Amino acid sequence: MQRKYANIIIDISHEKLDRPFQYRIPEPLRPLLIEGMEVTIPFGNGNKQRKGYVLEITDQLDYDESRLKDIIAINDKAISMEAKILTLAVWMKQQYGSTLITAMRTVLPVKKKIKENQYKTIVLIASREQLGQLILKCNPYRNAARLRLLQELMKLQELPYTLVTGKLNVSPAVIRSLEKQEAIEIKTTREYRNPTVQNVSIQQPLILSEEQQQAVMGIRQVLQQEYPGVALLHGITGSGKTEVYIELIMGVIREGKQAIVLIPEIALTFQTLMRFYERFGDRVSVLHSKLSDGERFDQYERARNGLLDIMIGPRSALFTPFNNLGLIIIDEEHEGTYKSEKMPKYHAREVAEYIAHKEHAGMVLGSATPSLESYYKAKNGQYHLYELHKRYADAVLPTTYIIDMREELKSGNKSFFSGKLKELLTERLLHGEQTMLFINRRGYAGFVSCRECGYVVKCPHCDVSMSQHRNGKLICHYCGYEQPMVTSCPDCGSKYIAGFRAGTERIEQELKKEYPSIQILRMDADTTKNRDDYERILSAFANGEADVLIGTQMIVKGHDFPNVTLVGAIAADLSLNASDYHAAERTFQLLTQAAGRAGRGQKRGEVVIQTYQPKHYSIVHAASQDYQSFYEEEIGYRMLADYPPVFHMLAVQIFSKTEQEGNEVAKRIVTGLKLKMQQANARIIGPAPAVISKIKDIYRTVFYIKHEENTTLIHAKDWIEQNILPKNGEKTISYEVQFDFDPVNMF
Ligand code: ADP
Ligand code: ZN
Ligand code: ZN
Repeated sequence: MQRKYANIIIDISHEKLDRPFQYRIPEPLRPLLIEGMEVTIPFGNGNKQRKGYVLEITDQLDYDESRLKDIIAINDKAISMEAKILTLAVWMKQQYGSTLITAMRTVLPVKKKIKENQYKTIVLIASREQLGQLILKCNPYRNAARLRLLQELMKLQELPYTLVTGKLNVSPAVIRSLEKQEAIEIKTTREYRNPTVQNVSIQQPLILSEEQQQAVMGIRQVLQQEYPGVALLHGITGSGKTEVYIELIMGVIREGKQAIVLIPEIALTFQTLMRFYERFGDRVSVLHSKLSDGERFDQYERARNGLLDIMIGPRSALFTPFNNLGLIIIDEEHEGTYKSEKMPKYHAREVAEYIAHKEHAGMVLGSATPSLESYYKAKNGQYHLYELHKRYADAVLPTTYIIDMREELKSGNKSFFSGKLKELLTERLLHGEQTMLFINRRGYAGFVSCRECGYVVKCPHCDVSMSQHRNGKLICHYCGYEQPMVTSCPDCGSKYIAGFRAGTERIEQELKKEYPSIQILRMDADTTKNRDDYERILSAFANGEADVLIGTQMIVKGHDFPNVTLVGAIAADLSLNASDYHAAERTFQLLTQAAGRAGRGQKRGEVVIQTYQPKHYSIVHAASQDYQSFYEEEIGYRMLADYPPVFHMLAVQIFSKTEQEGNEVAKRIVTGLKLKMQQANARIIGPAPAVISKIKDIYRTVFYIKHEENTTLIHAKDWIEQNILPKNGEKTISYEVQFDFDPVNMF
């Protein structure tokens, strides 16, 4: 191949330009250019200089040669994409729908080369006799600086450069003159910015329990296969999943391979990280949103250069350029944060599966409350299932009380706290033990319920709760059904029916009223605005600086507080009323995780679940920590209603300047799709205005497509991309279309 032409993706996120443009490679660049490199090219009529990525190098001419323009330069400050990363971007675009350039930006979390940090030392190369001679020749007054340096070198043969220029106050000119005389040498080594804790003493591995041992052996066997596939590790909170991961990683490292560990950002605490540092020392690194660009860049570089065995981090850690990836672990795999909210709206679990397959690597998903998707696959034999039933060292599960808040109201208790919760909380205060109160805030905005009987206003067609919109109407955002706001309960006639609102701040105030001398810490979006707030509040609580920690779901994620013996869920069913088919699953997960916080130490824990729906299966099974029973009921419901994981679902969102345009475009797509998909028998729901129907003056219209096969939905997406989005040369459009496969949040 002569490598004459390059197909290049222009770095502009626009559907119209989202295809390769062909350029000629000038002779001198031919041996240098590699696929994935960033280049500068002339673009458009004005030949404006643009950036682009080389998708392919070829000898195949697609246009008239005379019309081709030349590549101007290779941008050597940019990081080039390796072929496999480029392939991944192409796959993600195809799978999730986005422009190729957006997909490329996603898989390339660091775009620019950042200046390397260097560590310089001054090394003595002259013999000690020569050094002695040089010292004798110095005039103590005129060559004082030179003398200081030589005398230090007499003691230590290598000195940090900054120490010499700083503390010893020796000028660079003096250093240079000694270098010229070949008395010293300046040694430069690359120094990586390292955000991790250093010099942690390495701990011996723990002795695994029988159950842990079995899981490790089982998964190790799976890892021997050519395509190991996915193992699901279902273990109750505190059963020692992390120890299983660590043991598996050790095996992978022994084989000269590397591991990626995904952890939800919120659970990336010092506590968790320390457990890895203590086992693997500085062969572990971490990526998180608080790193500087330089730090982030250096972590990828350390991985690329073979200086790391393990990368820990949220989603973006998946794109770590390891040379020989052996294992991907996704902890708390059920967490919603593994789904990207930006285009391409990918799920880390799916992308990990793709990467693991390509690299012949293994994959382990871990959770106390696996997502329905993963457990369904495990049951169908697509995933290998391993279970841990016991807490380590037989620590006991807490005792749980379900409190019916309708009864509390009947007996005259209008406060947020049930009699039982107050009783147990008072006990804790007497014994100096700690309590966590959490309010399940997700989805609370809008749903309307009766405080007397617990009735929730639902759509007659969809079995989801209606949302109260700002205009006062109730609306179903699955089908668009609308009705006026109710003024009394349709079930019992009570006037106590309203949109439910109870924030953490309200709860704090109420608690202070009841217990004036109590010490409270609060954790929610308001109190965690700064970088370190989250960690600071958690460690203050761990150090016993407060009796009670009040918070949103943030506080229930995997922290060990040995002195917490009481957990209260203030309004456990708030998330149950989110108008979303995940509502029961989320509620179950949150309550199970929350209950897992109580009694982690030697003391037995208690959990109070306050609810208006005490008989709801998600609440009953969470109280008894019974995942199996929950799964059986929930999957039955998903089957009946054709929801994921039994069916697949694609949300298509249209963003437009006017409501009318959004509606028209949506209808045009739906009509076309219905024709095109007649045979496939896909169901289309909507279009309807989104829950939040306008943000910053942009209207949002949404519809859903459901089908058993995800590929049918991908075809629907392809059809929309080809028929609705503008083609080359067409005028640009004023609206935007976004795709979300198996959405984690409904719109
Ligand atoms: P999970 O990740 O399943 O919630 P962890 O791995 O955090 O559970 O384990 C819970 C606690 O039990 C931790 O404090 C951990 O150090 C301890 N633990 C787990 N397995 C062992 C073991 N084999 N030997 C000693 N301690 C263990
Ligand atoms: Zn409806
Ligand atoms: Zn009622």
